[in-house]
Amino acid sequence: MLRVVVLGAAAGGGVPQWNCGCPICEAARTKHPQLRRCQASLALSNDGDHWFLINASPDLRQQLIATPQLHPAPGRLRHSPIAGVILTNGEIDAIAGLLSMREGSPFTIYAHERVLAILKSNSVFDVLGEKNVARKAIKLCEPFEPLLPDGSRSGIEILAFAVPGKGAWYLEGKADPAGKDIEGDTLGLRIEDNATGKFFFFLAACARVPDDLKSRITGAPLVFFDGTVWRDDELVLAGLGTKTGQSMGHIAMSGETGAIAALGGLGIGRKIFLHINNSNPALLPDSAERGAIERAGWQIPEDGTEITL
Ligand SMILES: [Zn+2]
Repeated sequence: MLRVVVLGAAAGGGVPQWNCGCPICEAARTKHPQLRRCQASLALSNDGDHWFLINASPDLRQQLIATPQLHPAPGRLRHSPIAGVILTNGEIDAIAGLLSMREGSPFTIYAHERVLAILKSNSVFDVLGEKNVARKAIKLCEPFEPLLPDGSRSGIEILAFAVPGKGAWYLEGKADPAGKDIEGDTLGLRIEDNATGKFFFFLAACARVPDDLKSRITGAPLVFFDGTVWRDDELVLAGLGTKTGQSMGHIAMSGETGAIAALGGLGIGRKIFLHINNSNPALLPDSAERGAIERAGWQIPEDGTEITL
């Protein structure tokens, strides 16, 4: 049985974001704490004892406290059920949580060599020494099975593939430690439990949905998909910034080329938005935008939601 826990559903900054006074952040900070979301990450397991994280957000410590499935086993002085972390990009909201895992428990980092190059070029990540924390390169379109800490097989098969996106924003205009080729900066994942054949897709960053991606996810039982913005120019319209969703490598939920339209009619069993920015009105349960996504068969999860497949 594949178990998936949503550790966080928000985009970078979370909800509320520390320096944001927009109506959604203000409501989350005061009258409506149920709006609060940590930055996007999932935990998954097929045995309930060993878990793998997809991305390690800056909120990881808070997420681990709130998630009993990820607490040390009873009676163990030092232990974590986290066997590995799979990174799908090199953004701060995907990698900064690694620094909260520096106290000597063994685990493995799996990432594309471009993201591994970013970690290697930032000496602060050397705090995760090779003795305890192995780093393994993910190759595109070659399935791999993450291992348990004793080297045994996990029974989980992960296939990573490149999706339209962009490199980490803090590297814009700078020499990229992995060179110029951008393929591998943004990964989508297909994750399958070998024993049951059950699977799901993780696509928390995706700039558009080309036909080959549509074919790949057609008929999937569960897809987590990029829900950063409701409309592409929402940050600009709200006076919150100058960047569009597209300029940040994210597709909008709405519009003719948006996620709702692109994934409509593909026969996907369950569609869940992740990486939702605090500017996105679909976060508000009573909004017209939330109504529209729900009518189209989409969900916005609460942090801590567990789904079994
Ligand atoms: Zn805000």
